Amino acid sequence: MSLSTRTDDGWATTRFVVLGFGTAGYACTDSLLQAGAGFVTALDDRDTEALREKAQILETLGATIKLGPGSTAELPAEVDVLVTSPGIPPSAPLLAAAAERQAPIWSEIELAWRLRDPATAAPWLCVTGTNGKTTTVQMLTAILTAAGHRAVAAGNVGLPLLEAVMDPEPYDVIAVELSSYQLHFTHSMSAHSAAVLNIAPDHVDWHGSLQAYTQDKGRIYENCQVACIYNVADPETEQLVLDADVIEGCRAIGFTLGTPDISMVGLVDDLLVDRAFVEQRASSALELATLADITPAAPHNVANALAAAALARSFGVPATAVRDGLRGFRPDAHRIAHIADVAGVNYVDDSKATNPHAAQASLQAYEHVVWIAGGQAKGASFDELVEAVKDRLRGVVLLGQDKQVIAQALARHAPDVPTITVEATDTGAMETVVGEATKLARVGDTVLLAPGCASWDMFANYGARGDAFAEAVHRLGDS
Ligand code: ADP
Repeated sequence: MSLSTRTDDGWATTRFVVLGFGTAGYACTDSLLQAGAGFVTALDDRDTEALREKAQILETLGATIKLGPGSTAELPAEVDVLVTSPGIPPSAPLLAAAAERQAPIWSEIELAWRLRDPATAAPWLCVTGTNGKTTTVQMLTAILTAAGHRAVAAGNVGLPLLEAVMDPEPYDVIAVELSSYQLHFTHSMSAHSAAVLNIAPDHVDWHGSLQAYTQDKGRIYENCQVACIYNVADPETEQLVLDADVIEGCRAIGFTLGTPDISMVGLVDDLLVDRAFVEQRASSALELATLADITPAAPHNVANALAAAALARSFGVPATAVRDGLRGFRPDAHRIAHIADVAGVNYVDDSKATNPHAAQASLQAYEHVVWIAGGQAKGASFDELVEAVKDRLRGVVLLGQDKQVIAQALARHAPDVPTITVEATDTGAMETVVGEATKLARVGDTVLLAPGCASWDMFANYGARGDAFAEAVHRLGDS
């Protein structure tokens, strides 16, 4: 079998097993059937009304779907390719069994790459990193659209990449967000250009080690065609470029919040400039946009904008479209979102800061901060963060399951910073938290919800946590 594009022979006769029947598993099964695969079996240990309904639809199209406990206990005897879902760690018994039988294991991304229609296949501009992925692919999509391209953001960002690839009306280009999980089982993808925004410890339990996580992120650069974009401030990302096997002629391009060297994009005063994709780059730089075009212009968000600009420029987008795309762009909710000014204090919701690296980036955007933090720390350490931001902290209010982890880091590195812990975990807890934060704040300060932790101990998700914060802030204004 070749199976390197949709029109190859072999799809009809290959026996596919799809592991997991959630969003990704459904998209994989459905797309395989659309591509004419004759033998598709999907397995999931869950069995809900919603899954059963979905299963019925695909069963009428010819798939075999097994739901309920025990469904993934054994690998079916006849399998040529196993397609897996991002939630399943590589150590799962079925994956180990497939590896033992030397059956290839593909992510949804690998499948999407192979299911492209060679006549119309859109180039992929790919983004990964520990933090900033969604914002960067959305900025990139805005820039590509401003340049007149039919572009879409897909992958980890929401729209399954398979749907974008199988769309009957082809795209000119796809802005692809990739998680480390998806990259782990991605082998033959060849991005037009790719960026790794940053690397910090996260999801280490899934990958087994920080080194394995980092290496999986680096897979985004394999076979890259035009530009491998790295973060000058994060040498590990550059090392991943050096380690990658790329297509001859592919260039390494840095992005930096400093003055760019040759083959970089960066900042000169308040200008975003390109010294990478201009012919006279040895002696000059091209203005792309100004800091005023970026909202919010927090340093990490400017870094995201520079990475997006570099990807777009590698695709031949003119400078004016970079500016127009960035100017009209606003990040999704709960990403350093300004909520209100109350009595001279600025309240900001960065509930999406679910790990210490993200929280540190947003804390560094403000001079005097009352920091609201806590939740599920997922085994992360807060020492480095506290060490880096302690001089900015007016005070700290802690909530949630792992508040002691943060309290201990504060006690070690910033014992003089006033710290309040809120024990309540009910729906009213956030009101208490905001009340305590307000007492600590002085005029001109920022009260920042940047928990550095997951939200599930107290809230349905990070969105609900951010909403509770915003509601409590609005009630302050009413009183
Ligand atoms: P992801 O898709 O990688 O989770 P998002 O764009 O949704 O990234 O941003 C998530 C959070 O990460 C933001 O709320 C912010 O706290 C932080 N963040 C965003 N960009 C960066 C960056 N370049 N470096 C560090 N932290 C960042």
